[in-house]
Amino acid sequence: MRIGLEVHVQLKTKSKLFCNCPTDPAEPNRNICPICLGFPGIRPFPNEEAILLAFKIAKALNCRILERCFFSRKSYFYPDMPKNYQITQYEAPIGVDGWVDIGKKIRIRRVHLEEDPARLVHPGGIGGSDHVLIDYNRAGVPLVEIVTEPDFEDVEEVKRFFKKLLSILLHLRAFDPLKCSIRCDVNISLGDTRVEVKNVTGLKHIERAIRYEILRQEKLLKEGKEVKRETRHFDEKTGLTTSLREKEFEDDYGYIFDPDLPIIEGIEVEIPELPDRMVERFVEEYGLKEEKAKAIAYEGPDFASFFEEVVKDFGKPEVVASWMLTHLLKCLNFNHMRLEDTSLTPKEFVEFLRAMEEERISERYAKEMIKEWVPSGKKVEEFLKEMVSEEELRRAVEEVLREHRKAVEDYKKGKKKALEFLIGQVLRRIGGRADVKKVRRLLEESIDLK
Ligand SMILES: [Zn+2]
Repeated sequence: MRIGLEVHVQLKTKSKLFCNCPTDPAEPNRNICPICLGFPGIRPFPNEEAILLAFKIAKALNCRILERCFFSRKSYFYPDMPKNYQITQYEAPIGVDGWVDIGKKIRIRRVHLEEDPARLVHPGGIGGSDHVLIDYNRAGVPLVEIVTEPDFEDVEEVKRFFKKLLSILLHLRAFDPLKCSIRCDVNISLGDTRVEVKNVTGLKHIERAIRYEILRQEKLLKEGKEVKRETRHFDEKTGLTTSLREKEFEDDYGYIFDPDLPIIEGIEVEIPELPDRMVERFVEEYGLKEEKAKAIAYEGPDFASFFEEVVKDFGKPEVVASWMLTHLLKCLNFNHMRLEDTSLTPKEFVEFLRAMEEERISERYAKEMIKEWVPSGKKVEEFLKEMVSEEELRRAVEEVLREHRKAVEDYKKGKKKALEFLIGQVLRRIGGRADVKKVRRLLEESIDLK
């Protein structure tokens, strides 16, 4: 089996690829102008930010950067493209012949820039509508297309590839995973014939589409039937692929050089530390297990530098990593947020870890606290202020001991359970605003003194 991918990534830029229209989400058909609507006589101009990002991606994917690249017009007639051509790169892309290491090398054939077409909305699903709506907000949004060789042998390899690719894009600050999803054309051949599943959105659906297509082709081959060379559509609702059209060949599109746009000279760009190198460094410098180092690095540069800042101050990399990867990350994901969207600072996180270490808060309370503080933006300080004071806690312990003499006697006679009862009573009295270990210690000390 051979699988190849054509991955489309929306670049994180403020404006579109050839005009100044914003890329932010908006009401349909608000972010538009004569350029991205393809009016006659328009003058598109390339977005430097997008070009720079494309070069960085090509470099990070180990591509050879071409000395000169240029834009071409891919001619086709369809409502999502009012100019009747899409501006893309064909003959001379940004980079070629790269690779990504996922335990084996997945070869990258090319990395190029292109504009996104408009979004078509089929109210009754594809084939089930008597009309189609068009949103031109998306027309002209910059995409980078990453084309792999058909080097994947199963769906697990595809998953590993996307994990790695996403982490690289995050470190390059080229992609916003909360605002954009990855779109992909998947080529799958079990026998000799290549079938293309077009335009699958999001990693989950890409995986489902591949799994279904493998089953479908397997069944045909087993029955001695022919697998047709064609383009298929993946239906997210049913999880099935259906035939769209017989596969056209790339040359059918008639690419021509776009004379409105300048030729771009290949440039040498700086790229930051990439996830693979960062993982090695985290294992070396902090003694982290590789899995943990990976989990932190793959979350992106802000999460990783937050970790480093906290460790610089607090030490104990394992403890920091555990708290960040379990409770903090879980909570961010639950709220559909990224760390950089919160007001949480490394200094505050250190304060939080210290409070736990000094038994000013219990672990249980700390977990609850993270859940509340991440979405609310409430300061760690405010939470700590709500904790019971030393004096108040001692008073509660004394009161409980006075009121439950029987339990105290039982405990003295060796009934361990009685102590649990007393701890429960203290916690109840102070509304759980203290560390259990500390309550236990205070109780034991006070009983011993009696
Ligand atoms: Zn525009």
